[in-house]
Amino acid sequence: MPLREHNKHSHRLLFLALVLLLGCGFLATSLVSYQASLKSIRNSIVNTELPLTSDNVYSEIQKDLVRPILISSMMSRDTFVRDWVMHGEKDVEQMTRYLREVQQHYGAFTSFFISDRTLTYYQTKGVLKHIRRDEPRDIWYFRVRDLKEPYEINVDVDMANQDRLTIFINYKVFDYDGKFIGATGVGLTVDAVIKLIDEYQRRYDRSVYFVDTNGRIVLTGADGGPTGARAGQSLAEVPGLEDLQARLGRPQTGKFEYQERGRDHYLNVRYIPELDWFLFVDKHEGGLLAGIRNTLYLNLLICLVVTAIMLFLVGRLMGRYQRSIAALATTDSLTGLPNRRGFELLAGQALQEARRDRRPLTALLLDLDHFKLLNDTYGHQAGDQVLQGFAQNLRDDLRKSDIICRWGGEEFIILLKDTGNATAHQMAEKVRSGVSIQRYPFRGVNLHVTTSIGLAEMHPNDSLDSLIGRADRGLYRAKQSGRDCVCFEPAGHQDAL
Ligand code: GH3
Ligand code: MG
Ligand code: MG
Repeated sequence: MPLREHNKHSHRLLFLALVLLLGCGFLATSLVSYQASLKSIRNSIVNTELPLTSDNVYSEIQKDLVRPILISSMMSRDTFVRDWVMHGEKDVEQMTRYLREVQQHYGAFTSFFISDRTLTYYQTKGVLKHIRRDEPRDIWYFRVRDLKEPYEINVDVDMANQDRLTIFINYKVFDYDGKFIGATGVGLTVDAVIKLIDEYQRRYDRSVYFVDTNGRIVLTGADGGPTGARAGQSLAEVPGLEDLQARLGRPQTGKFEYQERGRDHYLNVRYIPELDWFLFVDKHEGGLLAGIRNTLYLNLLICLVVTAIMLFLVGRLMGRYQRSIAALATTDSLTGLPNRRGFELLAGQALQEARRDRRPLTALLLDLDHFKLLNDTYGHQAGDQVLQGFAQNLRDDLRKSDIICRWGGEEFIILLKDTGNATAHQMAEKVRSGVSIQRYPFRGVNLHVTTSIGLAEMHPNDSLDSLIGRADRGLYRAKQSGRDCVCFEPAGHQDAL
């Protein structure tokens, strides 16, 4: 592979290695820090934030629900209630006063008693109605009557209060012999609980809702549960949660993860024994991740810019180095002229152009006369001084387009473009005579030198070597002729071979 091609190839490899090294390094550190942030955010959601919300909601629920359950329990054991029923429910006002007292004193939303014997529904304002088995709204009573447990919690509309959604605590009442005589309890509006849920949802950007043991959503915030699910819907109908339910069978306490439309959800589920419900606190990572994802993109952008700047700088530096190395390799350090290597590059091109444009080209080979003697007499540094001065003479005497090189030692070679033998001879004479009268001052001595010049004009069949060979023969003849002269060497029989 040529040197230039080889250099290009190794540059490309170096660039590729740099890009890979910087790119992979930056990418790896960015991704590792992204993953670390992701993990810590996930951990904090799963292990801290969601359980904390769950605790808070639970304690609020306890405050709001446990008290009414206690009150209802007390009502069911109240001797007044039992005595009043057993004595034939005579004075309705007595019962309504009792219910009013309970309601007002304990701040309940409503309080009630249903007698099993007369199926009368008593509430704070008197008799509300008589319940009937065939009335759908009264089914709850017959359910409570057959209940194994002492009470149930039922979310229903309250007829006595413009059908507002209410949580009823329905407690069974027994006489002193353990015979079922009715149901009593208090109702509380779910507004407070919904407000609480809404507050949590808004403040912490998470979804809070309650699910019963059968997987039915029973209570949500004002805007519904996850993805707008309404109370009454089954988890199996909620996108993402259907899989979870299929996986779990029934709701159960624990930490879960599920996917909904490509978003990861974290779910904390807690059983609330007082309600026999599950509290679901659900958060998706969307908004949270946007922040650290943006940081990742910013990191990557910075890495890209840094890599680009690095490559640009390295490229420039390498280019500069390469140019200076190339210049060093083709320039003679003493005279500043192109050396033999530089000459070969320039001359090859000049010969090609001359041949293509059918223009004349002449080669001059110059050798300083008795230079060894000058060195021996005045020293090597004096010789160097003369060589520099001589090079400067050549630059001054010739055109910019001409190629002037130090051939080696005290020999120089010149290619005169667009110049035939006659003009070249004149120019060579000019150089020779100019040098012969030139003085090169060195440490107080004016050094003097002469030059012999061999001259050859390019022939159509000439190669660079054959042209220089002829100029060299011209130079030999000039030396033979006593030096300090110009000799033209015509193309002879040898060159035609
Ligand atoms: P001729 O007239 O036959 O050319 O005689 P000459 O003494 O010039 O020829 P020769 O080739 O014997 O000597 C050339 C000398 O040039 C010998 C060498 O030490 C000297 N020389 C070559 N390169 C340099 C250089 O860079 N600096 C100096 N000072 N001398 C150099
Ligand atoms: Mg010589
Ligand atoms: Mg010489």
